[in-house]
Amino acid sequence: MVIVARSHVTKREAQAICDYAADLAGLLNMPGWRILVMEEPTQDDDEAYATIDWIDQKHTAQLRLCPSWMKLDDATRRECITHEVLHLLHARVSTVALDDAAVYMRDHDHRDWSRRVRREFELMVDHLATFMSRTFKLEEAWDRAHGRTS
Ligand SMILES: [Zn+2]
Repeated sequence: MVIVARSHVTKREAQAICDYAADLAGLLNMPGWRILVMEEPTQDDDEAYATIDWIDQKHTAQLRLCPSWMKLDDATRRECITHEVLHLLHARVSTVALDDAAVYMRDHDHRDWSRRVRREFELMVDHLATFMSRTFKLEEAWDRAHGRTS
């Protein structure tokens, strides 16, 4: 677990995110994943509030948060982390659909293919995030991770 104290995220928030992400991984039956909050923020706030990358075969994921992370409200931060963790569900499919495809596609075709596949993954993840928030008490899990009990 990487605990950071950078201006874009407090140490306490990074720990809470790790705890919440571990909770979600449990709900998703992905207990083997280690989800880390990285020290480096994303480049800027315009593109996304957070990004997630994973190391193939290692079940290790790296979350990067935007520079203005601590200014976002609770609901936005919770929904964002939920969304990013759900991306891990297609980690294996990504390897086949994107990385393996690069071997037999021309660069131009692969760029176009990747863009289309990534858009479909985003739609799927948004769909699953809505399902998760309606099915599970994610607000409670988020509050619990932040040491707030209702
Ligand atoms: Zn996404």
